[in-house]
Amino acid sequence: MQLSFGPEVEDFRVELVAFLDEHVPVEARTGFDMMDSGAEDRTEVIPEWARRWQATLFDHGWMIPGYPAALGGRDATPIQTLAYLEEMARRRVPRSLHFPGYAIVAPSLLEFGNAEQQALIPAAIRGDTIWCIGMSEPDAGSDLAGLSTRAELDGDRFVVNGQKVWTSYATVAQKCFVYVRTDPTAPKHKGISLLIVDMDTPGIEIRPLRHLSGAANFAEVFFTDVEVPAANLVGAQNDGWRITQGSLAHERAGLWVEGVSRLESTVQSLVDLVQRRGLTADAGVRRRVAAFYEQAASLRALGYKGFASFAQGSSAPEHSYMRLATAELGKATYELGMELQGADAATRDSERGEENGRWVNMFFMSFANTIAGGTSEIQRNIIAQRVLGLPRA
Ligand SMILES: Cc1cc2nc3c(=O)[nH]c(=O)nc-3n(C[C@H](O)[C@H](O)[C@H](O)COP(=O)(O)OP(=O)(O)OC[C@H]3O[C@@H](n4cnc5c(N)ncnc54)[C@H](O)[C@@H]3O)c2cc1C
Repeated sequence: MQLSFGPEVEDFRVELVAFLDEHVPVEARTGFDMMDSGAEDRTEVIPEWARRWQATLFDHGWMIPGYPAALGGRDATPIQTLAYLEEMARRRVPRSLHFPGYAIVAPSLLEFGNAEQQALIPAAIRGDTIWCIGMSEPDAGSDLAGLSTRAELDGDRFVVNGQKVWTSYATVAQKCFVYVRTDPTAPKHKGISLLIVDMDTPGIEIRPLRHLSGAANFAEVFFTDVEVPAANLVGAQNDGWRITQGSLAHERAGLWVEGVSRLESTVQSLVDLVQRRGLTADAGVRRRVAAFYEQAASLRALGYKGFASFAQGSSAPEHSYMRLATAELGKATYELGMELQGADAATRDSERGEENGRWVNMFFMSFANTIAGGTSEIQRNIIAQRVLGLPRA
């Protein structure tokens, strides 16, 4: 079966391909892995080439195609956006190596911010301002509504005290979306507010944390009597929970493409590894590799099925499953690769370890994909309750 989109999409794709042929920097060709990897040998959390590339995409209207030109887009339709994500993923080209600004802050401010706050959006999408997201705390991760970082209104400012953890990019960010408790007496979902906090405000201490891979691109962030202008409150006071639920709406229908494409490219890396190590005649190995291939292909078909429902105005429950499935299958694919390498898998030694340690690094990082932004267990809970309609356990 040949699937194709109409001329409106194919013309759009031709224009994109011409842009990419001309502008993609050489470094971006390995950048797809870097979106996940946080590799130990990355000297900068966000390399200079990635900053320039994000700005170039914005300036040419290719950063978020569905947005208007002033926000780095070209008013693309959802199906054109899908084609865009497909093409970028097929070429393994990342848009950005720091997602909070363009993927979380921008859509949230578009929906909930006032005019002054919305003026921050173009720089967030272009990557000129680096943002971090302060949600998780030592006792509030999956149960985000249990957060206890406190903000007390005192005249025209809030005074913030508490601690965040696992804050990606905190070491390089200029601004942070900090979720705080503004009413400790209200039911826990109802006493939360969102503040925009400048990371150089006195009273903020950032302590870098290391990933399993060795990279330190996230941190603990401590707040001690940090004064934040009351004007930095986003949306209404005590209405912050609604904002946590709202981001990514603009391209939710197409985001699964990135996950599936990354999974397909991991399966291809596994095939290459099997060939390099002379395991192609092993029937057991062949069967296991083929099973991953088949699952990735099925997920792509499921994604298109969901997209077709979405394009016709229905909800697409398939997409709730995609993120869980691509993260878990990605981890299992790396696990098989580690198993097939035996003892060599544990080394980053370029003479024995595969691809100068890329494989072991990506294996470590594949765990992070099953945790960040909601663990696999939490995703399963959501699917059980909201998609399958099962009662809470
Ligand atoms: C690479 C990476 C980047 C991150 N970046 C950020 C960031 O920028 N900003 C930010 O705020 N946070 C960030 N996080 C944190 C992330 O959102 C949390 O780690 C995640 O929500 C899980 O919370 P937790 O670590 O406190 O685990 P916990 O919530 O303590 O969970 C521990 C275990 O219990 C399970 N569990 C918990 N509750 C349930 C339940 N109800 N049912 C079944 N199982 C359950 C979980 O699945 C998990 O296996 C990042 C995490 C990673 C790995």
